[in-house]
Amino acid sequence: MAGTNRQIHLVSRPKGEASVDNFRLVEHPVGEPRDGQVLVRHHYLSLDPYMRGRMDDAKSYSQPQPLDQVMLGGTVGVVEKSRHPGYAEGDSVVGFGGWQEYSIVDAATPGALRKVDASRVPLSAYLGPVGMPGVTAWYGLLKICQPKAGQTVVVSAASGAVGSVVGQLAKSRGCRVVGIAGGAKKCAYVTEELGFDACVDYKAHRDPKSFYEALKAATPDGVDGCFENVGGMVFDGTLARMNAFGRIALCGMISGYDGEPIPMMQPTLLLTSRLMLQGFIVGEHREVWPEALKELGGLVASGKLKYRESVAEGIAAAPEAFLGLLKGRNFGKQLVKVI
Ligand code: NDP
Repeated sequence: MAGTNRQIHLVSRPKGEASVDNFRLVEHPVGEPRDGQVLVRHHYLSLDPYMRGRMDDAKSYSQPQPLDQVMLGGTVGVVEKSRHPGYAEGDSVVGFGGWQEYSIVDAATPGALRKVDASRVPLSAYLGPVGMPGVTAWYGLLKICQPKAGQTVVVSAASGAVGSVVGQLAKSRGCRVVGIAGGAKKCAYVTEELGFDACVDYKAHRDPKSFYEALKAATPDGVDGCFENVGGMVFDGTLARMNAFGRIALCGMISGYDGEPIPMMQPTLLLTSRLMLQGFIVGEHREVWPEALKELGGLVASGKLKYRESVAEGIAAAPEAFLGLLKGRNFGKQLVKVI
């Protein structure tokens, strides 16, 4: 197809903090799909913390993002041309199209593309509560934290894409839910709009003792399930509030993604409190996705699961928006509106 496809490439690896200089805007022709392929016009791009890890050339659970190629990332869009019998022009699809305006997808590749119903659930939600972040929340909470009615669950980065779903699912299972978030506005959102029982503003308690006291006041019966997204002082404080035989879903440690060391101050608590700690990567648990997406889709369609989005306009805005996400400037799911 004639026309220009604007893309964002990774052109260098960060040394410490990532910067806009690590990215470049590149223009390419849109191209024509061949037999078995589909041309998708992206409507939204998902920006996610894991992308920071891929920018490094370090040992991890996945391959690094190659240099001078389109940044990888989840997308939702609409089929513009199809040469695959399973897809028609106008179909709404979720895929992994990357930081660009269009992608050409081999539609027969398992998991490459999934048709979605945008009539009951807004298209963008398939990148948030009814997508990868939602399933992350669902898996870590239900399979690892194993919440039971009357117990207390604590979740950090509570206003974000994953944390907001964790807390609402835990409430629906009858738990007392305490969020941890940065700033009074995010905390007010977490308690007043999302319905958490309490929220501790870690930015108002910058020293570990003061943070611990605030968390203690919010968790009078201790903590049975910890859904950890941040690491550092926030995690140390929660660990110190854990009840015997508590469960910890280690989902993310965003406070260390730019390479800062994040020591654990009291690892002996894992032993003395007989805690279970499980790290997990949601993409390795494909078996739960259908069940999780069914519940999450139903909750969003009925308005029972609330969420918020931060939307940057245009693909050129992706690098700035991504760096903002790593600094906590997003409020809810960080997206780029591509068209
Ligand atoms: P969010 O929408 O929560 O955005 C990131 C948030 O992290 C920021 O808004 C900020 O909120 C918070 N944050 C806390 N401390 C820091 C810090 N020191 N530096 C920067 N930000 C900080 O992101 P997601 O919901 O998409 O992801 C949440 C976590 O889940 C991440 O750690 C991510 O890596 C992880 N994850 C793991 C997956 C897995 O399979 N294991 C899959 C998906 C996500 P605040 O202002 O409140 O501090």
